Amino acid sequence: MLGLGIESTAHTFSCAVIEKKGNKGKILSDVRKIFRPADGEGIHPREASRHHIENSSSVLSECLDEANIKISDLDIVSYAAGPGLGPCLRVGAVVARSLASFYKIPIYPVNHALGHIELGKLLTGARNPLVLLVSGGHTMLLAFLNKQWRVFGETLDITLGQLLDQFGRSIGFASPCGKNIEELASKSSNYVTLPYSVKGNDVSFSGLLSATKSVAKTNQVDACYSLQETAFAMIAEAVERALSFTRKKELMIVGGVAANKRLSEMLQDVCKRHGSKFYVVPLKYAGDCGSQICWTGLLESKVKKGTLLKDTFVTQSWRLDSVKVDY
Ligand code: AMP
Ligand code: MG
Repeated sequence: MLGLGIESTAHTFSCAVIEKKGNKGKILSDVRKIFRPADGEGIHPREASRHHIENSSSVLSECLDEANIKISDLDIVSYAAGPGLGPCLRVGAVVARSLASFYKIPIYPVNHALGHIELGKLLTGARNPLVLLVSGGHTMLLAFLNKQWRVFGETLDITLGQLLDQFGRSIGFASPCGKNIEELASKSSNYVTLPYSVKGNDVSFSGLLSATKSVAKTNQVDACYSLQETAFAMIAEAVERALSFTRKKELMIVGGVAANKRLSEMLQDVCKRHGSKFYVVPLKYAGDCGSQICWTGLLESKVKKGTLLKDTFVTQSWRLDSVKVDY
């Protein structure tokens, strides 16, 4: 079975083709174009959507060429229907609807967060993990129970990705800034005390953001190091509590921030203490990409015949814990 997946929730426009045989999936192509705002600026939804419109046709053609298939070979098309930025979401949905209606291909709206998790499971081999989803749009701890992903902790304000990006932009980096902060942080081991805020099993990062900006006025390197140490320790505490509560024997980390080595190091320590296996999504597929959406669509096609075109919505704030997972 061949699927096409389209991702356009925020900065990335991506198309991917996956071949599914039984429970196995083979990524035949995954092409991405990423909207890069000017240094120090964030993503403007309208500008990002214009970027997606301008690049959608070339990304799709390249994706089909690389997979060596024609549109008429596709069995399904899926697109990220939310959560995300409205103008950006609409671009992916329009491309998917056009293909579905013209070529009569079944269409599947996919929850973006579910996409991160399902592709993570496919690529790591994790079976029943506690999931830490840390990206630009999410900071969530999740475990699967009775056909739904349940939240065991989340951010009360900004996400971990936003914390890193907003701080990075304030010291002049171009968004996304996580990698630059990681590089600068590795040059220091001088910890400056910063606000540490874990409430129950939720985290709050906005106070940490303001305080780190103040530290950066005198030393940007120490600020990066201390920011990572504080934010990741907060996450590790929440993960540790959720692991001991759910007694999961696997922890899987997905989302763009999963690329960070220091975060993995801290979480590996937590897993050792609890006798749990640690899985991290491969770097290439940590950030947003069409494969996440494609694989989830293919899984849904096991139990659903597709969605009527009139119901192919986009929803900016579509929470993962409201999605029924029947496959
Ligand atoms: P996503 O929304 O899943 O595409 O993830 C994007 C987020 O991942 C952005 O906030 C980036 O700053 C962050 N990110 C990417 N690479 C790293 C890294 N090496 N360390 C920390 N954060 C990162
Ligand atoms: Mg994402």
